Amino acid sequence: MVRYLVVVCSRCGGYRVVSGVQKTFRCFSCGNVSSLKQELVVAYASSAEEARHVIAHLKISRAAKRETSKP
Ligand SMILES: [Zn+2]
Repeated sequence: MVRYLVVVCSRCGGYRVVSGVQKTFRCFSCGNVSSLKQELVVAYASSAEEARHVIAHLKISRAAKRETSKP
């Protein structure tokens, strides 16, 4: 059962874990409030711990991408 969603802020791109019942979420980084749209959901998790692991991996892969895109 999916209880947690990993969402990305539409303004700053920061990751957040939200509960599946929420309709909106506020970004911890920039304070932007977004409605919980399907296109902002990057992953699903069954526990908060799993969601944190997902975010850690997303940050690593994003950093790696940034590294390779340097001129
Ligand atoms: Zn943000």
